[in-house]
Amino acid sequence: MGIDVERWKARIRTAVGELREPLLATSHDIHAHPELLFQEHRASARLADELERGGLAVTRGVGGLATAFRAVLDGGEPGPTLAILAEYDALPAIGHACGHNIIASSALGAGLALARSGQRFPGRIAVIGTPAEEGGGGKILLAEAGVFDDVDASFMLHPSRSDMVRRSSLASSRIELVFHGKASHAAGAPDLGINALEAVIQTFVGVNARRLQMRADARVHGIITHGGDAVNVIPARASARFSVRARDRAYQRRLVTMLRQAAEAGAVSTGARLEWKETRGYDNTVPNPTIADVMARNMAAVGRTVVEPAPNERMGSTDMGDISQILPAVHAYVAIVPDSIANHTVEFAVAAASPAGDAAVLDGAVMLAMTAADLLADPGLLAQAKGEFDRQRAAGEVAGRETWLARGREYAAGAVVE
Ligand SMILES: [Zn+2]
Repeated sequence: MGIDVERWKARIRTAVGELREPLLATSHDIHAHPELLFQEHRASARLADELERGGLAVTRGVGGLATAFRAVLDGGEPGPTLAILAEYDALPAIGHACGHNIIASSALGAGLALARSGQRFPGRIAVIGTPAEEGGGGKILLAEAGVFDDVDASFMLHPSRSDMVRRSSLASSRIELVFHGKASHAAGAPDLGINALEAVIQTFVGVNARRLQMRADARVHGIITHGGDAVNVIPARASARFSVRARDRAYQRRLVTMLRQAAEAGAVSTGARLEWKETRGYDNTVPNPTIADVMARNMAAVGRTVVEPAPNERMGSTDMGDISQILPAVHAYVAIVPDSIANHTVEFAVAAASPAGDAAVLDGAVMLAMTAADLLADPGLLAQAKGEFDRQRAAGEVAGRETWLARGREYAAGAVVE
């Protein structure tokens, strides 16, 4: 089946132009009603309803998550399944300071524009609503539940400081540390106590003592979650929470070992007992080169200047990293703020509903839809993307579906994954 992809893209642009007002209304509505992880009822219902009205076949609550959905546009002929992902959760206290309203609305716009374009194509496009990116790992839960089993490739857009397609993200995990000591009167009988707070402090000091020996991409950052109850009582219990991240999982494991050594040293030096619990974080993102190239061309086509990430690029973590470990995927970025503003700030939240944020919704919808069009019109591109993924897996750069699932089962069983 010969598809005239340039004509298809022209119809996509026209469709997004026609959808301008409803797409921005949705973006602003989600922005004005921030919902925390797994509680995104209003946003997911609105997105699912609009996709259904636009002609997509919607299944709500997929993967056992009430605020997840999957909206499918069938091309009318057998072929691959592409997934465009939508996030819509917000942050405590500062609302849409990560701009997920833009992610949601650009994915919505792409799905609706592809439906309006009226183009027949081999395969399916699924807009998947993925809850709880901010700490809940919604994409991990959906992938484990099989929601990505039939997906051949996946991509999404995240607002940021610049237009990028090849930016990665950090592998992460979280550690809860609890030290158990012994209470005593802090003035009257301090010699009878064991100070759990000092063990927490020693842990921070120990980690800081290792920082010069850590790679530049290492991120070991913690907070003290409990430091005692009264100043005249030697703290019998103190706790801290750490996030440990690095560009790849192997080095992330070495950093976890360094933290463990510091915590054990804190226990030994104070006489407190250490309780250690690690919970799964997110895997690092490995962008698929072919899909990234297609997205870069479409980003340029909407008038944006694609920049390459710096060698020492600063970045966070995302559950899209896990998706990139199981299938060809790209987590692209679209600029809404200058370089001086980071996400997870009040300034970024303001930008997410500003004219720059609105432009990202509309450009994003066009770019995502055009990327789907390219990949569906030329089966050679997807074959190339899959070949690259197989090479990445052979080189140990990505886990592959089976290894990724097995690692998840080990985490669930409480094993320390080395
Ligand atoms: Zn985000």
